[in-house]
Amino acid sequence: MTANADLRALVRTIPDHPKPGILFRDITTLLLDPAGFAATIDRMAAAVSGPFDLIAGIEARGFVFAAALAPRLNAGVLLIRKRNKLPGAVIGVNYALEYGEDRVEMHADACAPGARILLVDDLIATGGTALAGTELIRRAGGIVAQAAFVIDLPALGGADRLRAAGVEPVALMEFQGD
Ligand code: AMP
Repeated sequence: MTANADLRALVRTIPDHPKPGILFRDITTLLLDPAGFAATIDRMAAAVSGPFDLIAGIEARGFVFAAALAPRLNAGVLLIRKRNKLPGAVIGVNYALEYGEDRVEMHADACAPGARILLVDDLIATGGTALAGTELIRRAGGIVAQAAFVIDLPALGGADRLRAAGVEPVALMEFQGD
């Protein structure tokens, strides 16, 4: 049986976005469903092993899940943003995405040395984004204790890459063959 089939049914698939050949797994339809979003947060919170000092959300969809999880897990929210968005002194890491290239940044003073961080995004594909986030947090002196996603695309190998980098990923559901 597919894990969390009820929630999986709320994820909409949009072919050829943002470019031909990509099956975009759209979580906005899951967010629109009150019971579905509440269950998503319940199950993500139950799947992780705290305690955490901070929940790090990756812009932009990661923010939604990180912000909902943080009070549940008695943690603050650390924003990992795209380039040139944060007003203070930042540290940054460049990375390759499934489509295109990007850069993540965080405030240099956002996390205390030794802070335990849960990294959160809506989806892990190649793992490039989550690995960049991990590198960023580690550079700031934080410990990436775990990473949580709504969706894993296992064929793209991101969860394995994250595990190889010493971060245990958890995901509520998988979509095969992408
Ligand atoms: P990656 O760095 O390859 O693991 O890609 C993960 C990031 O890109 C996440 O922030 C996702 O929101 C987004 N992403 C990558 N592939 C997809 C996809 N097929 N459907 C929806 N979002 C995706």
